Amino acid sequence: MPEAVIELLKERRAHRIGLMGGTFDPVHRAHVEMARRAMEQCALDAVLFLVSGDPPHKSARAPAADRFAMLELALAKEPGLYPSRVELDRKGVVYTVDTLRILCKELPKAEFTYIVGADTFYDLSHGGWRNVEEIYGLTRFVVFGRPGAKPMELPGGRVRAEFAQMPLLNISSTAVRRRVAQGLPYEELVHPDVARYIEEHGLYRGEGIGLNEAQEMLKGMVKPSRFRHILGVVESAEELAARFGVEPRRARWAALLHDCAKGMSYEDSVLAAGRIEPPVDRVTLSQPALIHAPVGALLAREVFGVEDEAVLEAIRVHTTGKRGMTALDLLLYVADTIEPGREFPGVEEIRAAAKEDLVRAAVLCMNSTIRFVIASDGILHPGTVDARNDLVIQLKQRKNL
Ligand code: ATP
Ligand code: MG
Repeated sequence: MPEAVIELLKERRAHRIGLMGGTFDPVHRAHVEMARRAMEQCALDAVLFLVSGDPPHKSARAPAADRFAMLELALAKEPGLYPSRVELDRKGVVYTVDTLRILCKELPKAEFTYIVGADTFYDLSHGGWRNVEEIYGLTRFVVFGRPGAKPMELPGGRVRAEFAQMPLLNISSTAVRRRVAQGLPYEELVHPDVARYIEEHGLYRGEGIGLNEAQEMLKGMVKPSRFRHILGVVESAEELAARFGVEPRRARWAALLHDCAKGMSYEDSVLAAGRIEPPVDRVTLSQPALIHAPVGALLAREVFGVEDEAVLEAIRVHTTGKRGMTALDLLLYVADTIEPGREFPGVEEIRAAAKEDLVRAAVLCMNSTIRFVIASDGILHPGTVDARNDLVIQLKQRKNL
């Protein structure tokens, strides 16, 4: 039983049909603008938005039902533009070639125009899509330039493809999701009803952010040199996690986000710290080099959606340490000190210790920090002293056993 929209197209004798495949996670203004433009430029009777259920190339962050509902809202008042479930309701991996075969059967008189962004067309014309030769036979293409897409020429021969006439629009669903997760305004990027839907259903609040996406976000938040340091800490943290039996995902998240607040000014950090409960101690508050740790834990929760208290605590104490540190806390503390980019007198000794004993390595890190703070007449955080005493006692007890 074909879906209602297909019946509608038959009834209206709509033959020139645009197709736009996508995850629409969520649908944004560029999607709708592209469909409108394609309709005009290619004299289309209608455009179907083919929402993917289970896309071959990437996984969606919002359930298909929500993505479809948002498309319905965005297209409700757009004449000739319709959401379609033809890809959504199919089980397993869905290939465009199968969709085209189905649609050709349902609408035998139709002429199809597939609407794509330049990034997608580049993928499909460079071996990224199954049975592309058959696809070229079943539909023509209208390709919209996209900021950041690789420059390319359209294939000639029997491939029917043309570029669309439209200024580049710097909008992506990824940008919408990140903005929602970061609490930044995004209302200009989507239809107002879609924004309302996102709010009401709490979509993209952060729990959906994977490590890769977090890493990409982070890249835009800190300086390149800081980002390199962070990647170094991730590398060391992974090594230590494997060696000392710490849950690798936790180690990775903690390492990735430990310095996420480093890009903030000191003034903004103090402001943000004002929201932390229990209140941040005055030594930490007074020092730009310390305040990024508790504020980082705050951002990790609010911006990156980290819910894991153990990860948040490791981030919170990664600069000062505290009494009663867990293996994860120690791991991050040590990884931050010995990552491959660090060079200071004594680092090799700590690296060697970290091959054997996390506690001893942490004590060496603390010794080095304490010596450094005292040599530079700095303010020593009591957490570091507490942490060190605690660990030294552990080492002594172990010896006595
Ligand atoms: P994501 O960031 O999650 O990949 P997206 O914005 O690329 O999302 P998709 O659902 O992946 O949206 O894209 C559907 C189609 O729309 C693709 O062909 C894509 O190339 C195209 N597209 C999306 N945004 C733009 C844009 N700003 N300019 C040109 N093409 C776009
Ligand atoms: Mg995309």
